[in-house]
Amino acid sequence: MIVMKFGGSSVADAERLRHVAGIIQSQLQRRPLVVLSAMGDTTDHLLEAGDEAFRQGNVSIEQVEKHHLAVMRKLKLPTGVQKEIKPLLQELHRLLSGIALIRELTPRTRDQLVSFGERLSVRIAAACFSSLGINARAFDAWDVGFLSNSNFTSAELLEESWEKIPEKIIPLIKAGIVPVVTGFIAQDDKGNITTLGRGGSDLSATMIAAACQAEEAQVWKDVDGILTSDPRIVEQAKPVEAVTYEEAAELAYFGAQVLHPRAMQPCMKTGTPVLVKNSYNIAAPGTRIIPSLDKKSLPVRAITTRRNVTLIDIVSSRMMGQHGFLAEVFSAFARHNLSIDMVATSEVSVSLTLDSDSDLSALKKELAKVASVDIKTGKAIVTIIGNVKRSSEILARAFRTCQLLGITVQMISQGASKVNISFIVNDNEAADVIKALHLDFFTGGKESA
Ligand code: ASP
Ligand code: MG
Repeated sequence: MIVMKFGGSSVADAERLRHVAGIIQSQLQRRPLVVLSAMGDTTDHLLEAGDEAFRQGNVSIEQVEKHHLAVMRKLKLPTGVQKEIKPLLQELHRLLSGIALIRELTPRTRDQLVSFGERLSVRIAAACFSSLGINARAFDAWDVGFLSNSNFTSAELLEESWEKIPEKIIPLIKAGIVPVVTGFIAQDDKGNITTLGRGGSDLSATMIAAACQAEEAQVWKDVDGILTSDPRIVEQAKPVEAVTYEEAAELAYFGAQVLHPRAMQPCMKTGTPVLVKNSYNIAAPGTRIIPSLDKKSLPVRAITTRRNVTLIDIVSSRMMGQHGFLAEVFSAFARHNLSIDMVATSEVSVSLTLDSDSDLSALKKELAKVASVDIKTGKAIVTIIGNVKRSSEILARAFRTCQLLGITVQMISQGASKVNISFIVNDNEAADVIKALHLDFFTGGKESA
């Protein structure tokens, strides 16, 4: 068995759906299960419709309705499907009317609202695949064992799902059915619809693959895989052939928007390989995410940057060795709802970074009582994801590159996972640093290998 997940842009319209049917057909002998996102930008459109109902009291499902009905017409689907789609659209209309009436949009309602995207897409897709000869059948996640907590908008799957999912799915696969399952959504123990966070259908797919001990999870996107860098900055950026789960997870957190950050977790537990492929470019080999790489691989997998960052240096005004200083600093950040990205400490000081859009005035006042606080805006984080065992080589080469460019590194941190080495430079230097590092580690690295 394999799991094939297709993202929104891979199933955006009638033509893309037929194309996806072809991809599934080519691997039918591997007994696929298909996980789908909402079509195109449907999730955004639903959220916009919810906002409009909430703020203006307007109920408009036109955009969503029109698109889905048009796709069905183009695919010339049998009228039976209409019977499944129409009631969903009516239910969506009722929900928006409710929001407009009481002018309330709670996280719980928001999850219910966006769930329609995936529920519509699997039904239309399954009908399309069936009409092309695939024995496909649509399923909502809760009918195949997806149980989550009630943390609406970013729910976590419960342990029970590990048993429930294979219990439901294996018999379907054995019966020769190609299940087409909604990504992104689940249900809590009270029967409320929940979602796993934006981009969460990746996690749905890896969860099914891991729980059912599938051969692999294929995640079909609209890019050639995980890239060595941001192609808008580095022209030579190219897909990475293989990365470890840890590296992929770090990359997801650090802005490489390829996979949902939590998507690695289930497959990491079971060692199930994840393959990132491009549905717009089937011939491209894609990126393989696996437990470990062979020794001959390059030291660095990818280089990314996070722009527009603020660096805060906090120096204790109390005696050295005083305990509780860090606790005080971090609890002040927590009280002001400020999320810290990078941290580096010494005996008497701590440096940390945040995204620049945070308002720091109240925090500064509070911390000033126990420390001197220096806030520097206009910084960027440069992150190198690479082989744990070669961190000394990576650090040496990275700092040599910065030295050659005449750029001062202002803070460094090697994440607890050790696959991530991050440092701070001025925002206007970040592009040059990334380009030079890419040249050294990828172009240069290849020549010397
Ligand atoms: N449709 C959801 C989103 O756009 C989930 C997903 O695509 O993975 O975030
Ligand atoms: Mg989407």
